[in-house]
Amino acid sequence: MRKPIIAGNWKMNKLAAEGARFLMDIREKVPEEGRVETVVCAPFIHLPFLSEAARDFPVSIGAQNMHHEESGAFTGEVSPAMLSDLLISHVIIGHSERRQYFNETDETVNQKTHAAFEHGITPIVCVGESLEQRENNETMDFVESQVVKGLEGLSEEQVKDVVLAYEPIWAIGTGKTASSEQANEVCTHIRKVIEKTFSKEAAEAVRIQYGGSVKPETIEELLSMSDIDGALVGGASLKEESFLKLVEAGA
Ligand code: PEP
Repeated sequence: MRKPIIAGNWKMNKLAAEGARFLMDIREKVPEEGRVETVVCAPFIHLPFLSEAARDFPVSIGAQNMHHEESGAFTGEVSPAMLSDLLISHVIIGHSERRQYFNETDETVNQKTHAAFEHGITPIVCVGESLEQRENNETMDFVESQVVKGLEGLSEEQVKDVVLAYEPIWAIGTGKTASSEQANEVCTHIRKVIEKTFSKEAAEAVRIQYGGSVKPETIEELLSMSDIDGALVGGASLKEESFLKLVEAGA
């Protein structure tokens, strides 16, 4: 049985006090550990406080990006060692906004994924096609290539611990959710790719989230699909009430 994982992605939102208030509001209300994995992925400035404040509650704190090197002359970057020092447990890697605006490639995604494992951080590796690719029937091939290149060189055991987030770009922040069938079709394909590239055991263990305008009204149906094990959520994760509803649906 794969444990559902609901991860909020605040993107570049919330001042420090707002982030702190959010965590204080939800921390007593999130379902107990074991039923669902709850992750809040916040901008770097929030991480020291959130990590400390979430310690005794079943909420994991994640980053939205990191550099792959341990330290060095990379002005403006944050290293995996810095995140693990703060007990950050998850990191989003290769979000489509980072691929689009910050030149992230499958190669940097792969470097960062390896670096996350070296530091005991669970990578949430994002893949997904553009509208043009979907209309040209290129979705499956494109997503397959992102998965294979992004996870290249990982061991079978590491692949079991990866979280993959299938996020069609045309559905992110647009209010257009992929239908549950459309989302599941690609997630099923991703699982087959993992089986072909790594093993059946890895394919059965790896968790695949859907992301793209997920809301409390759509989460239950998405989670009922055979190959969707959770959600990566932007907009609807910003308000305490809707985030809690999403997490409850996974519990
Ligand atoms: C995301 O940030 O990964 C995302 C899917 O955003 P939204 O839920 O707002 O579409």
